[in-house]
Amino acid sequence: ILKVEHLNQFYGDWQALHDINFTLNRGEVLTLLGPSGSGKSTLLRCLNGLENYKSGTIYFEGKKVDPTEKNWQNIRQKIGMVFQSYDLFPNLTVMENILLAPRKVQKRSEVDVKQEATKLLKRVGLEKYVNAYPRELSGGQKQRIAIVRALAMHPEIMLFDEVTASLDPEMVRGILKIMSDLSEKDHMTMIIVTHEMSFAAKIADQVLFLEDGKILEDTPGKEFFTKPKTKRAQEFLDSMN
Ligand code: ATP
Ligand code: MG
Repeated sequence: ILKVEHLNQFYGDWQALHDINFTLNRGEVLTLLGPSGSGKSTLLRCLNGLENYKSGTIYFEGKKVDPTEKNWQNIRQKIGMVFQSYDLFPNLTVMENILLAPRKVQKRSEVDVKQEATKLLKRVGLEKYVNAYPRELSGGQKQRIAIVRALAMHPEIMLFDEVTASLDPEMVRGILKIMSDLSEKDHMTMIIVTHEMSFAAKIADQVLFLEDGKILEDTPGKEFFTKPKTKRAQEFLDSMN
């Protein structure tokens, strides 16, 4: 569903991503691991068009993405992203937050999106909060709303950037459960950046291990967590325990 070839990204003269190559198959979960500053967030932002990459090629569903073209806009709608900071609009209710993009960008009917939003809210156990404002919600609740908001766009791929990093431990489990359900029940294609190693070990079909903007390893999930290819990755795993 996604193929990345020779992707490079610079901030000024400084190179943040070096020759990134990988393939993501439909229905699979790719986990991006690596130390702080290794380029994980930068890579996710390049993949969904929040940043213009300097060079390289991205193929989405077999078609070459031209980042200067309008069709990139259409593709971006199919790649949902959830961040560590929930980024809900504070002046809009939960329902208004969810309706905004499907209504404005996809021009879908209010009835249709509302119905779907209600279903999704039920699924994450927050149907009571349709008319609440983000400030009235806990961190874990806001993060569930951010996930629902992304799902309401019918993405083909979901990107998750440390979505549990700022949550209390008891909130974390609920969010991780939603993510594993998305993978197991919906077969959602996902790229996940996380510090939750036991979760990553369970969910990852494939692991990219980054350091200094380079892929040091591209290894099947099962193998990575038991027998990584590089010493550096082993050290990283040891440091996470
Ligand atoms: P973390 O685990 O801490 O979130 P990360 O792997 O997500 O780290 P990135 O946020 O992708 O790392 O950052 C990679 C490098 O690029 C870092 O050295 C960072 O300082 C730099 N960087 C990121 N965004 C910018 C920017 N907009 N301008 C300049 N440098 C940036
Ligand atoms: Mg990051």
